Amino acid sequence: MAGDKHLTRLRDLYAHHTRTDKLSERVKHTLVRTLYTQPASLAIGAINGIASTFIAAWAANLNVLYGGCVILTVIAIARLAAAIRLSPDEGKTSTRTLEVIYEVGAFSYAFVLGLIAALTLLTQAGVAIEVLMVTNAACYGVGICARNAGRPQIAMGQLFLTCLPIMAASLWIGTLPFIALFFTMLLLFPAMMSITFNVFKVLRDSISAAETSAELAEKMQRLARTDVVTGLANRAGLNHAMVETMAAVNEDTRIAVIWIDLDRFKEVNDLLGHPVGDRVLIEVSRRLREVTPEGSTIARFGGDEFIVCCPIVDRKHSEKIASEIHAEIMRPIRIEGDRLEVRASLGVALLPEDGTDADALIQNADQALYHAKIGGRSQTRFFDQSMTRDLVRRREIEGELRAAIQRDELSIFFQPIVDLQTGKIRTFEALVRWFHPEKGELRPDEFIPVAEESGVIVTLGNWITAQAARACAKWPEDVTIAVNLSPLQIKAPGAALGILSALRDANLDPSRLELEVTESLFVEDNHATASFIEDLSNEGVRFALDDFGTGYSSLAYINTFPFKKIKVDRSFVSGPNVGQKSDAIIRAVAEMGSRLGMDIVAEGLETIEQVQAVREAGCNLGQGYYFSRAVPDYLAAMLLAQERATLEQQRRIA
Ligand code: C2E
Ligand code: CA
Ligand code: CA
Repeated sequence: MAGDKHLTRLRDLYAHHTRTDKLSERVKHTLVRTLYTQPASLAIGAINGIASTFIAAWAANLNVLYGGCVILTVIAIARLAAAIRLSPDEGKTSTRTLEVIYEVGAFSYAFVLGLIAALTLLTQAGVAIEVLMVTNAACYGVGICARNAGRPQIAMGQLFLTCLPIMAASLWIGTLPFIALFFTMLLLFPAMMSITFNVFKVLRDSISAAETSAELAEKMQRLARTDVVTGLANRAGLNHAMVETMAAVNEDTRIAVIWIDLDRFKEVNDLLGHPVGDRVLIEVSRRLREVTPEGSTIARFGGDEFIVCCPIVDRKHSEKIASEIHAEIMRPIRIEGDRLEVRASLGVALLPEDGTDADALIQNADQALYHAKIGGRSQTRFFDQSMTRDLVRRREIEGELRAAIQRDELSIFFQPIVDLQTGKIRTFEALVRWFHPEKGELRPDEFIPVAEESGVIVTLGNWITAQAARACAKWPEDVTIAVNLSPLQIKAPGAALGILSALRDANLDPSRLELEVTESLFVEDNHATASFIEDLSNEGVRFALDDFGTGYSSLAYINTFPFKKIKVDRSFVSGPNVGQKSDAIIRAVAEMGSRLGMDIVAEGLETIEQVQAVREAGCNLGQGYYFSRAVPDYLAAMLLAQERATLEQQRRIA
């Protein structure tokens, strides 16, 4: 659809530029300019004419020729002065005026020169003098015709005016040689006319072709810098604009680079389709244009990212702009009666404090955006130097992660998931830990995203599953193991086979493995995901939907995929958002779960009050520090042994 529009635009452009039937004003201007180029040739012609006339006057001792000499000199000086004063490049004088001024000078000079030649004939000034002046006039007429072919009527007019008096004089004298001279000159007209017009056409066509291709090239370049969907600048357009902006920077200039990322835009695209996605992008661009100050560059980058580069007064001003942008994007968007809520994360970097060149500013805005996203999304973050340290740390982690697996610096800890009615441990969730020799204990939140970015997650994930399965194989048969899977791991080729072979190696029944996945997995409709879940479900492996309530919370996924368990995110149990609303959500999810025969786990239980609340709301399982933190395998085994002993004791007492 957008491609069609693009084509139509190109076609119009082409049609417009192939219309060369009428001389465009610019082509005409260029041609008139050729009249004024090389005034030296004009001067040489004039000096020659004047000198010859003077010699003729002196040789023939004719006053009328002296008079002609004076008139020629006056005209020549006036023309030279005009040529120097009216430089056509400055564009102050209109094309028409330039042309008329030239015409008056040229015609009068030509006519006077022709008259002088005619006079030498009529006065019978002498053969040599007549030859000199007739040749002079004829050569001038022919030569000027070629020189001024850019304006053919001037060229032909000049030829006509130089020849006319000589031809008239020839007829007047009437002898045979002069009649022959008359016809010779007469023949000059058709000959010179055809030559002049040919030269003119070639000149005109090549000038207008050059103009057309220059304009086309400019338009193409503009299109190449424009995003087709939104009409904003694209990456190339932003680069171009930034280069221009940075070139004009002085010490008073202050600029904000604001990098905007729409949160979960992929979900809009996948659930509602690309046409709706496009309309959201168009609406967002419209709003961005509205709230950004004049002189801003707004660009759209791959998919759902935008960059605004705007002039600002001070930091406060940039904060105001960023918060206006944020508010505008969050305002619900109406599309065909549907109300859509879009959220965005913003990262901001300022010139000069956060960078003095375009690359540094963009990179630092990206850093700030990254922190806005990991800080929980829908936030605005301004760049600060600690973010660079974070980046360095991330790079270090990336470099060391592969080696860490081999060096045995990683281990798996286990956190129990407990039956809220009986207090019995039903499952252990495997949580990876990295004990770094220098950096100390690293949190998975810090290195799992790095592992995902760098692709190490596949190796790491396989290793975690293998370790977890091995530990679980040592526990009583009714205790299961839950392993977190990253979407990237699942999309890797042979993912299901890898998991089944880990189970076989550990000699663990597939029904004792539970895989925890998050909604982000389903955001992209992916055949690999569906068949991964199906293959493993058929083998008896179970699936749990993790962090429920933090994402799109679409019940569609629960219906489509065979989940046995829903884990309600800990933000519903503790934190600022807990209240009546979260309680109602837990109740609704729990009710749905029990109807569908699913387990509902409340995550992050830290106090007895929380345990009571979620149990009352209908959750049947719980996990959190109230029961136990994640512990090493030997402690997990000990917890299980203790539990058995207590149960045994209770049974004996009973
Ligand atoms: P998650 O899957 O939601 O795991 C639960 C996290 O909540 C764990 O953090 C756990 O230690 C923490 N937690 C448990 N009970 C409480 C509580 O009562 N209060 C509080 N404040 N926190 C509690 P952890 O181990 O730092 O893991 C963080 C996240 O890292 C996990 O979130 C999971 O998404 C990811 N992760 C951890 N291990 C793995 C792994 O082996 N593979 C993959 N792909 N991701 C992992
Ligand atoms: Ca989990
Ligand atoms: Ca979770």
